[in-house]
Amino acid sequence: MQTTLIGHSSRLESPKSKSSSFAVSRRSIPSRQSIALISEHGDPAADIGREEAGGQNVYVRKVGEALARLGWQVDMFTRKTRLDDAVIVQHSPHCRTIRLSAGPEHFVPRDELFQYMPEFVESLLKFQAKDGGNYPLVHTNYWMSGWVGLQLKQVSNIQLVHTYHSLGAIKYQTLARPPIAHTRLAAEQQILEQATCVVATSPQEQEHLRSLVSKGGYVEVIPCGTDVDTFRLLPQSDARSALGFGSDEKVVVYVGRFDPRKGIETLVRAFAELYNRTEDALKATLRLVIVGGCQPGQADADERSRIEALVAELGIADNTTFAGQVGHDRLPLYYTAADVCVIPSHYEPFGLVAIEAMACGTPVIASNVGGLKFTVVPEETGLLVAPQDVQGFAAAMEQVLTQSHWSAQVRTQATTWVQENFSWTGVAAQLSDLYRRLLVESLMEQPIHVLAEPRTGRSPLRLSA
Ligand code: UDP
Repeated sequence: MQTTLIGHSSRLESPKSKSSSFAVSRRSIPSRQSIALISEHGDPAADIGREEAGGQNVYVRKVGEALARLGWQVDMFTRKTRLDDAVIVQHSPHCRTIRLSAGPEHFVPRDELFQYMPEFVESLLKFQAKDGGNYPLVHTNYWMSGWVGLQLKQVSNIQLVHTYHSLGAIKYQTLARPPIAHTRLAAEQQILEQATCVVATSPQEQEHLRSLVSKGGYVEVIPCGTDVDTFRLLPQSDARSALGFGSDEKVVVYVGRFDPRKGIETLVRAFAELYNRTEDALKATLRLVIVGGCQPGQADADERSRIEALVAELGIADNTTFAGQVGHDRLPLYYTAADVCVIPSHYEPFGLVAIEAMACGTPVIASNVGGLKFTVVPEETGLLVAPQDVQGFAAAMEQVLTQSHWSAQVRTQATTWVQENFSWTGVAAQLSDLYRRLLVESLMEQPIHVLAEPRTGRSPLRLSA
């Protein structure tokens, strides 16, 4: 299907043109304002940790649920990718995922998904007309949803908020450009210039938007968050016995998708370096735990096979555990059982894993890139290392694993840091405040954000002593 960036909107039906019995029930709850979150490929109701199900899914689901607790009626739209998936998943009384027909009902890699976005827009408008809903504010996630948002903006008076989650302008600095690259870069620029507000999740992302995408448009920085009731300090001995790890083991954990961009190869090579440096009697106590799922036949299964082969080749197979996909709520056990969590990404727009691990009191060794520079405080909550620096990651792991006094200090510092700055409740409160300001602004038809003190950066985060 031939798709132009903007301009097929003449085919779109007005959302106000139809009504249904749903409209009556909607109007009976006047106090709740409906909003739509759109996440075309990151299904908020999906299992997390497999192909293309990672941070974006968690972000949309957690933000949606928290916004519902703050009084909004939240509808989260995604593409239906499995025949047997429910069309509507109700997460809580005022928060649901709605899976729209757009293209085939099976997995389609992100780079081939854009051709189905006009159908996504039509399905959304049809659903809206049938359901009787009205979304004066739409928060889109990732560039294709942003494109959908721009189409909606052409046919209705919406306030469009956008979060990128990943920027083509950075991704294509190191990766070969797929055929969709040109369209993506153009759309990312249009979104920044035409959305009502772009939410950058770190000052680093804001900087990238300005230097690589456009000087136009309005940006606010609101970070990602974590569930601090689930990700919290727990006794390490309990976590280790639950997972079958010995009390004398030195446990290094990786959590995330199998994607070459995640740099698992760097971690594996660094761990082998550490293993080779360790005296023979202690070698058996070293354990690398790799958490994350994959789908047979998909790109993440290829990456897992490649990493498994490398682990065997480096002679660390007996010290390495592939834990597979772990349910999000069970992950605190893995972070808590570990002595250190390593995030060796080549590029990371935010990196939820970092704040999850720190919330559990686990020191983080991360690449000195993107949002990780914002969330990991060197020497206070972890260490930062140049991406792909095998020797650097090996030295940092050695430092953390041998300095138990420092690790004990990090434990309380890291958890406090996350609780004070990165809880979903706090993040959703900031988003809620932004939405309200934008909606009031649309009613008054004047830009409140230029009258109020500009919030183009967060106030410096505090690390409690
Ligand atoms: N995750 C999970 N189970 C797994 C692997 C990952 O729940 O087996 C979650 C992890 O807790 C985190 C998300 O997937 O919330 C990954 O987000 P991140 O921002 O670190 O990376 P992304 O997937 O966005 O690149």
